[in-house]
Amino acid sequence: MRVYRVIRAVNRGYPLAVLWLYVAAFLLAVVLMFMHPLGTIVLVWIGLLGLVFALLVAKLLAVVQRIVARNILAAGACPGCGGHLSGADAEAKVRRCEACGSMFLVTGAEEAPPAPAAGAGNG
Ligand SMILES: [Zn+2]
Repeated sequence: MRVYRVIRAVNRGYPLAVLWLYVAAFLLAVVLMFMHPLGTIVLVWIGLLGLVFALLVAKLLAVVQRIVARNILAAGACPGCGGHLSGADAEAKVRRCEACGSMFLVTGAEEAPPAPAAGAGNG
C-alpha cells in the first residue's frame, strides 16, 4: 500500500511540477532573450519537445499506478488504506473501500466518488 500511495502522490503532483518547471523555463527564457538570444530559441525547442516527454512520463506513471493497484486489489485490500473492499464478487466492475470510501475499477484505475445529490443539504 505504501508504494501505491507514493506513486499516487507523485502522479497527483506531477502536472503541477511540470507547470512550475515550464514557468521557470519561461522566466529563464525572458532573461536569456536580452543576454543570449540563441539560448531562448534553444529553450523554446527544449520546451516543445519536453511536452511530448512530459506526456509520456504522465502516461507511464498512470500505467504503473494502475498495475500496482491491480496487484493490491487482487489481494482483496484497498490500495489507498489497506481496508476491506466491498463488491468482491467476480462480476463487480467497481470496488469500494469500506474504510476510506475510495472506489477502484477492476483495471486498477481510481474512480471519483459519486457526487452528492443536487439540492441535498439546501433544505
Ligand atoms: Zn481504503
